Amino acid sequence: MATRSVSLSGTDKEKASQIVEASQRLVSIGMNRGSCGNISARCETTFKGSDSFLVTPSGIDPEKMTPESICLMNMSGETVEGGKPSSEWRMHRDIYDSRPEIHAIMHTHSPFATTLACLQLEVPPFHYMIAVTGGNTIPCAPYALFGSQELSDSALDCLENRYACLLAHHGMLALGHNLEHAMAIAIEVESLCEQYWRILQTGHLKILSEKQMSAVHEKFRDYFKK
Ligand SMILES: [Zn+2]
Repeated sequence: MATRSVSLSGTDKEKASQIVEASQRLVSIGMNRGSCGNISARCETTFKGSDSFLVTPSGIDPEKMTPESICLMNMSGETVEGGKPSSEWRMHRDIYDSRPEIHAIMHTHSPFATTLACLQLEVPPFHYMIAVTGGNTIPCAPYALFGSQELSDSALDCLENRYACLLAHHGMLALGHNLEHAMAIAIEVESLCEQYWRILQTGHLKILSEKQMSAVHEKFRDYFKK
């Protein structure tokens, strides 16, 4: 078993276990297959004096993942020896760098989100639950090569004030205040994409107005107030 040169705090050890569980859950509910997709969580352990995050390793099937195989990476993209981090680490790093309120990120190649992403479609406000993603649409970031800085830049632009976006010809990104929140967003986005895909089969589309969506955002603000 790999040992770390940087020891994780108790909270971060717990987060590494939660990342493994979340990766396995995404597979069990059909949101990812094989080693597709990746998950990260901002952590409190610092590494070489920099803030850091935990991210799933590259090419390891979630079934075989252990908390020890989750990579610790800092904001300069340096990682502790051992597992190779997900090729999409730049997207995770750049989101944590520019969105202080985000503490967890999930990236999936889930079937319906990916189908719409391959059509380069933005999901319009056909259902009020679109509002949980922070905006009135789920935008689709223009295509860029996987693992590239260009893809990360493209996703970050699209995610302004939002918790989710599609990535053209690739998949989706879901952001949250914690792992549970990011998981809820990812599942909701996949469900909305399935509904929208079904609507597209009918050749009809009715969408909510800006005023109706504003009322939903208002109600969600009260609903989620702690
Ligand atoms: Zn991907």
